[in-house]
Amino acid sequence: MSASSLDTPMMRQYREIKAHHPDAILFYRMGDFYEMFLRDAEVAAPLLDIALTTRDKAKADPIPMCGIPVHSADGYVKRLAELGHKVAICEQVEDPRRVAGRRLVRRRVVEVVTPGLVGDPEGIAAHSELALAAVHAPEGGSSVGLAVLEASTGDFRATCIDVPAAGDALSAPLLEELRRVAPREVLVDAARAPLLAERLAEILPEATVTPVEPGAEATELSVDGFEPGSQDPSQRAAAAALAYAAANQPSAVVHLQRLRPYRLADAMRSDAATRRHLELFENAEDGSRRGTVIERLDESVTPLGARCLARWLAYPLLDPESIAARQSGVAWFCARDRLRGRLREVLRGVRDLERLFAKAARPGAGPRDLVALRGSLEALPAVAAALAEGDDDLLPDGEGGRPAAVACPVPVPEAAELLAEALVDDPPIVHRGSRGAGETGYIRAGFRPELDVLRSAASKGREWIAGLEARERERSGIPTMKVRFHPVHGYSLEVTKANLDRVPGDYERKQTLASAERFTTPELREAEGSVVGANDRAADLERELFEQVRQAVLSHGAAIRAAARAVAGVDSLAALAEVARRDGWVRPVVDDSLRLEICAGRHPVVEPILRARDEEFVPNDSDLDPDAVQLVVLTGPNMSGKSTYLRQVALIVLLAQTGSFVPAESARVGIVDRVFTRVGASDRLARGESTFMVEMRETAEILSEASRRSLVILDEIGRGTSTFDGLSIAWAVAEYLHDTPGLGARTLFATHYHELADLARTKERVRNAHFQAREYGDEVVFLRRLVEGAANRSFGIQVAKLAGLPASVTARAREILANLEGGELDESGRPRLAQHGDELGTASGATPEGGAQLGLFAVEGASPAERAVLKDLRAFDPERTTPVDALVAVQAWIQRLRGSGEKP
Ligand code: ADP
Repeated sequence: MSASSLDTPMMRQYREIKAHHPDAILFYRMGDFYEMFLRDAEVAAPLLDIALTTRDKAKADPIPMCGIPVHSADGYVKRLAELGHKVAICEQVEDPRRVAGRRLVRRRVVEVVTPGLVGDPEGIAAHSELALAAVHAPEGGSSVGLAVLEASTGDFRATCIDVPAAGDALSAPLLEELRRVAPREVLVDAARAPLLAERLAEILPEATVTPVEPGAEATELSVDGFEPGSQDPSQRAAAAALAYAAANQPSAVVHLQRLRPYRLADAMRSDAATRRHLELFENAEDGSRRGTVIERLDESVTPLGARCLARWLAYPLLDPESIAARQSGVAWFCARDRLRGRLREVLRGVRDLERLFAKAARPGAGPRDLVALRGSLEALPAVAAALAEGDDDLLPDGEGGRPAAVACPVPVPEAAELLAEALVDDPPIVHRGSRGAGETGYIRAGFRPELDVLRSAASKGREWIAGLEARERERSGIPTMKVRFHPVHGYSLEVTKANLDRVPGDYERKQTLASAERFTTPELREAEGSVVGANDRAADLERELFEQVRQAVLSHGAAIRAAARAVAGVDSLAALAEVARRDGWVRPVVDDSLRLEICAGRHPVVEPILRARDEEFVPNDSDLDPDAVQLVVLTGPNMSGKSTYLRQVALIVLLAQTGSFVPAESARVGIVDRVFTRVGASDRLARGESTFMVEMRETAEILSEASRRSLVILDEIGRGTSTFDGLSIAWAVAEYLHDTPGLGARTLFATHYHELADLARTKERVRNAHFQAREYGDEVVFLRRLVEGAANRSFGIQVAKLAGLPASVTARAREILANLEGGELDESGRPRLAQHGDELGTASGATPEGGAQLGLFAVEGASPAERAVLKDLRAFDPERTTPVDALVAVQAWIQRLRGSGEKP
């Protein structure tokens, strides 16, 4: 009986390799397939929706297996990585045909694809990153290191984040930054993994948390800015990321050029809630880019520019000088429509230079990848030329010369020329690790004389063989003789059984078939030898040359990546100019002041939507200043435009600090260190927190973290609770923002509590403003114009009518409102402060429940206490009373009435 099926030479080799990659699914190359065995097969087959079979069925312990064709492997690998798995790609590293005897072909894992290192950049959305992050949180340390590596673009950055005194490694700024980066995989020190993993999984549900052993250092790698032995937490995090990448995907790190240190303090802090509320990158509806700010802004023509713009918007700057530098770039392009148009045309040719380079650097890179890279590289000179045209034309306004922000990409002609000389324009598809005979011919004729010689030898041999059939038919007189080719047996002359007697004497039998025999001759053997030999040698040489060319091109990595960065920059600036010119945006003044002054501002996303519907967007002003008008209480009916306005102001600030122009007639933005938004309901509802709870938590964060430099946008605080609760909270929050010494954040506070307007009477830096609405008959018309003073009406019923509430309901609501406004009904619709009982009876159709109280006020013989309360009530002026005072008064009246001993 045979041994266990695990004990074959092949399975021994398999298990040996697998032992080095216990946590990865091993793709074991066998010919044109990757096979998975055992547990890997059982895990992967259902995930990939492929058949699970067994190997060595006859044996007692058949091995579960499944497989996928090599040519479609990338898609499967990507699917597994997205599901959080690692995939180890194990290739045959020698030509099976050359392996003598029965020895196994040698195999080696050439790369491991992980959720944060996907290898093939093909599947990543062009405008987004797919990052690997590493967190290094030394026990008891005062700061945590964060490194971010984007393998497909070669971007590698690291920062140190302070740990608050409390000592929680996962401090709010770190979590915030992780959410902003949104890595697919986070590396944490194994020792601390259990502690950190759960919290990380909560804030980054899309990411895989991978524990790594500290000390695994990629010391042999030389990356600018990376200091292998350093104890600095950001360097340690970078070391962890590098070591992990080097171990799993060497091609991703070999050509990394530099580690870019960055500081959170250089950019505006941006929390997930604010990004979501302002719909910067994802809309609230379905999380897509539709209707988002980035969609509006992204007029880039290359993926390089698209990613750069997204990064700019995610990290608005805090330094007026750096902002001004970008603005000059935008201004320069705004002033040059022709140049910009021409530039954008040639930029398209650059395509995704970064990712094409990353593709070329991968072990599986084929000729087509290099030809695509060549196309990109060849587009660079035209970009440089287009920019150079504007180098010295001085504009009438005196603004000439290319500003520093418009960095001209430096072409890499050596790489482009080498690729053009070496590779044919339209090479065949060559699958990774493939040694198939048809997959050659990609090296251009004339590139290397030896190759041309081999090729011509092979083709001469083939010609000779092609002519052989006719020659041998003639010589032997066998008219049906045929030249045959068999991949294993090679060339032969086939003669049917009936003609065997006429076979010439120098024929040697090679193979016997059912109805024919196959022969060879010494000449044929020689010709065949030279054809096959030449072909093989040519194929080997092609592979060798290809690899040489590839390495030579990769050695220009630094220059290529620098060119890509420059292209990203000019594409982004030109895109911002494009938006500014198209939509009439202006260059804002951004300075160190605390002013926020916007003249005729518009909402960057709503305005074009309205325009598309042929509707006007009404521009509005803003003027905030911690020393003058710090807090504006915004009232106005629902639907009047409050939310739009709040967001518009916040977005203009963000855009300004991104370096972009802004939708306004003019604007002055004193640097804002952080935009806080508390807007509408939140999606955390799905996680079981009540709207009110979420709202209060966000409010608490604003009050504790806002500074004098912040911009606070509050939309409807206190809605999720009873009216008095809500009003009191809103009131107290506004007071806090105004009164707390040293706070004084510029604040816009939209509310439906008209009572809040009273704040302006007592608080020095509070002003009222409202959105105008006009009533025509019983229709309301929103003017969308912001004017000073508080709104006096809320037009709720008119809005309800607009929304399609049945006429009978709105009519009845109007009736009830009239009574409430006349002070005759309380909030539950019951009669209360009537002066004349008969009016109540007609107005509300007084109910028996109401009837009881009716008697209290309406009868002539009221008690002295009742009369006194009535007198107070008549004199009471709600306009001049704060809600708190009103509450106190009501309490006192109730007490007096109850104390009078009257029975209702
Ligand atoms: P509110 O917050 O007061 O309920 P919104 O800000 O949601 O009102 O605005 C309601 C609608 O009015 C929006 O759908 C928008 O299309 C339109 N709108 C808002 N502001 C303007 C404006 N300045 N000009 C024209 N239309 C506007």
